[in-house]
Amino acid sequence: MPTPISQYGEFGLIDHLTQNTQHYQHSTIKGIGDDCAVLNHEGKQTIVTTDLLLEGIHFDLMYTPLKHLGYKAVVVNLSDIYAMNATPQQITVSIGVSARFSVEALEALYDGIHTACKYYQVDLVGGDTSSSLTGLCISITAIGTADSQHIVYRNGAKVGDIVCVSGDLGAAFVGLQLLEREKKMYLENPNIQPDLEQQQYVVGRLLKPEARRDIIALLQSHQIQPTAMIDVSDGLSSELLHICRQSKVGCRIYENQLPMHPDTQQLSFRFNMVPTTCALNGGEDYELLFTVSPQHIDILEELDTFSIIGDIVAAEEGCILISENNKPYPLVAQGWQHA
Ligand SMILES: [Mg+2]
Repeated sequence: MPTPISQYGEFGLIDHLTQNTQHYQHSTIKGIGDDCAVLNHEGKQTIVTTDLLLEGIHFDLMYTPLKHLGYKAVVVNLSDIYAMNATPQQITVSIGVSARFSVEALEALYDGIHTACKYYQVDLVGGDTSSSLTGLCISITAIGTADSQHIVYRNGAKVGDIVCVSGDLGAAFVGLQLLEREKKMYLENPNIQPDLEQQQYVVGRLLKPEARRDIIALLQSHQIQPTAMIDVSDGLSSELLHICRQSKVGCRIYENQLPMHPDTQQLSFRFNMVPTTCALNGGEDYELLFTVSPQHIDILEELDTFSIIGDIVAAEEGCILISENNKPYPLVAQGWQHA
């Protein structure tokens, strides 16, 4: 029998869910247990980001295991901290939860949260719980630090810079289309069990994304400081346009340089979608998109870890995709349409 939340009061529930919280950072002076957390970032600048996830808008519990959801909710915030070239140190987690959730369900959610904290070495230092009338909502705030001269904003791209992106694009979007389709088929006929074995890559990219801490570390170890950076949460086009608008520049990117996993390409064809459209507008990739001075081109090519997808041009030239058959198309921000 699942344990009803009412068995714990609000405070009992927080205590229960956070009882095994561990700290990894010296900067956490006081975590959960007082009116406020106390942090000591010792002269570094503090980077703060927050994110709100609502059931039915941002996630669907029919195909999202709660442990994965907890993990992902943390990761999407850490991704924003890394996109500033900063190091995440602490998070707070607030949840609104209705009576249809059991204590065990929330334990699974927090299991995912704790797993992400351990993997990324961030400390859970506070939060709140409240009852909600309908769905589950999760709000996470992440706090990071950086030396002021290392912080990378969106507005530093210069004409002549190279545009790079980590990993591959469009897989999470295709994974979402797949799960939505399977859900529809299941609702029409519950006897059909979805077969997702063959599609672990795209489904994993949606349900269990990682933040690119490794990319930040790699750039730092080669003393490469991007001129501008953003994480790809709403789709490459939209993020590139943010960088270009804020840096007052244009860009030229090449369709044949866009990194895509073969599974993403195959599935896009199956769903009658153009793979390039998935790569440009898909969203939820949580890769890093950044611009670097052309002086680093040799080392970037040698590293072979990122895709060099284009370059920064003057604002008057606009933001352009050069297609495989060499035709220019203006980039448009379709953003991320939640299913
Ligand atoms: Mg972001």
